[in-house]
Amino acid sequence: MDLTTIWKTALGELEIVVSKPNFSTWFKETFIFQVDRGLVVIGVRNSFAIDWLTKYYKEHILKTLQKLIPDAELTEIKFKVSPPNSQTNIIFELPKTNSEIEEIKINEIISHSDRPDNPILNSKYSFDKFIVGTHNRLAHAASLAVASEPGKRHNPLFVYGGVGLGKTHLIQAIGNEILAKNPKTQIIYAPCERFANEFIHAIQTKRTEEFKKKYRNVDLLLIDDIQFLSGKEGTQEEFFHTFNALHQTNRQIILTSDRMPQAIPELESRLSSRFIWGMVVDIKSPDLETRAAILKQKCLEKGTKLDDNIIEFLAQTIQNNVRELEGALNRIIAHLELERIEPTLPVIRQILADHQSQKGSGLTCSKIFGIITGYYGLSNEEILNSRRTKEVVHPRQVLMYILRHELGYSYPQIGRELAGKDHTTIMHGVLKIEKELIRNAQLQQELADLKDQIYRPY
Ligand code: ADP
Ligand code: MG
Repeated sequence: MDLTTIWKTALGELEIVVSKPNFSTWFKETFIFQVDRGLVVIGVRNSFAIDWLTKYYKEHILKTLQKLIPDAELTEIKFKVSPPNSQTNIIFELPKTNSEIEEIKINEIISHSDRPDNPILNSKYSFDKFIVGTHNRLAHAASLAVASEPGKRHNPLFVYGGVGLGKTHLIQAIGNEILAKNPKTQIIYAPCERFANEFIHAIQTKRTEEFKKKYRNVDLLLIDDIQFLSGKEGTQEEFFHTFNALHQTNRQIILTSDRMPQAIPELESRLSSRFIWGMVVDIKSPDLETRAAILKQKCLEKGTKLDDNIIEFLAQTIQNNVRELEGALNRIIAHLELERIEPTLPVIRQILADHQSQKGSGLTCSKIFGIITGYYGLSNEEILNSRRTKEVVHPRQVLMYILRHELGYSYPQIGRELAGKDHTTIMHGVLKIEKELIRNAQLQQELADLKDQIYRPY
């Protein structure tokens, strides 16, 4: 097994314990620079990454690597700023006896397919890999219709639903299908943040004309997670014109969001009203049968066979969303292959249990309450009551944000945990933190600290 493969495997494990934004910010373009006499050196992009990784994940990374390459007898880890591909100094080589492991197609084990930062369409996201159930039937039907006649029906198509339920997969499937039929189609797929960032960059560099040209001349525009337009006035204005330019000339627009257009706060009404001009469809959580069907399909794709009782066990245990289902399956396959064991129910239970404890779950609402009140020095009453001084409002909003993002609670559910607060209050709170996080480095640090406590494995 070479260092690249080892690092890929390690990243696969680390990805599970690091929050997604942190993972993509700090672990992107990292690699094993060198392994030498018990010291492993990790190449990173910049000195911020060194600080962050040293502070929060040093031990974790070291432990993970110790487990993966016991023969290297690692005792120390260092980070070093270096451009990717500068890994020249491979002193440590694994003994040949480990060569069986080479066969493992690690890329298939650890699927990175759901990374949102790929500018082009991901060919994995096709209709034939998309399982249809009652939870997404309408969204699927509307997507097929749009794929067969882009710009004619359902313009815009607006797909909304919770995280990990298949929105990105579905809209990229539309793009892929249209592109397959007509390879000349001009398509842009962009997460909303990219649209916003590019726009701001275009203003700063006085290249707004170029920006306009780029976005207003496509045949198909896919903007993912449009709720991030919230509060961004200038970008909303620009998107309004982009929308009109495309719509007036019958070019297809497809948007996704975590909520329906009218529920996106601080969004101009001329936009939210346009978003419902075409077709608005939601995707809900899959039911038990669909979860099982999805697992079976994913097993097929990954060339793994799991007994029905195991599929059923997984479908029953993992209920939140498809991304988690797939994550669990990837982990299981990786374990089975690395350890060369048969997938029996006790084995699977153990793998899931290990993961749960690793992730710090039974992560519970009350544990999170405990950590947050401890961190900000507040009592439970203070955080639950309705006083609106700055000292309590901020921690309260962080609490909402964490319950939403780490436990996947719905807004009404969080409202109930917070002494019956209204779900719009919760939505506002979560969004405030989401927005602030983009710019506020101190808040990023705060949340990294909190997550570190939340997911500390001991
Ligand atoms: P969202 O954009 O709603 O957060 P994604 O589209 O990223 O969710 O889906 C998360 C993962 O789950 C992806 O790997 C996707 O392929 C998979 N997935 C979601 N729904 C389905 C489905 N109905 N059939 C097959 N795979 C699915
Ligand atoms: Mg998505």
